[in-house]
Amino acid sequence: MPRQITLADGRSVEVECLSCALTSGLIAPTGGVIYESSNFHVHQDVAYPIRGLVILASKRHFYCMDELTDEEQFEYISLIHKIRSEQRNRLGIEKVYYFYNEDTTHHFHLWMVPRYEWMYQFGNSVESLRPVLLHARNNMNDEENMESVIEGIRILREGIRDFESSSR
Ligand SMILES: [Zn+2]
Repeated sequence: MPRQITLADGRSVEVECLSCALTSGLIAPTGGVIYESSNFHVHQDVAYPIRGLVILASKRHFYCMDELTDEEQFEYISLIHKIRSEQRNRLGIEKVYYFYNEDTTHHFHLWMVPRYEWMYQFGNSVESLRPVLLHARNNMNDEENMESVIEGIRILREGIRDFESSSR
């Protein structure tokens, strides 16, 4: 069902699929695109202001892991590997939680959520994920943290820039 969204420039448009609108460039993510290829689009949703959090989305409109083409499968794992090593090398992120569900209202996308010290108050593993994201959304959207998050986006973008050339 179509959704009404407001663009950064104030215009309001109706889109069929929010993910397609984002990966096609109709909607610009805050902080900018981290990386994109013909198959994938990497960005951060700053509604959850956690430095180094990354969302890796497919550009094609599909939902399930077994729908990845051979080419996409190869690029997918290489890209995750690249993002993960840049998170470690440039942002000092030691552990990451990965989350992906096929019954999403967005299409195929992987959340890569860095694990920080403050998150341990919400426990471990999958049950901690929602409280962590909600805590970030509700309590960490101050200017200082948002600047740090935007800087994280820029640092990752610089790190991943050479991905395609080094992997092809
Ligand atoms: Zn779509």
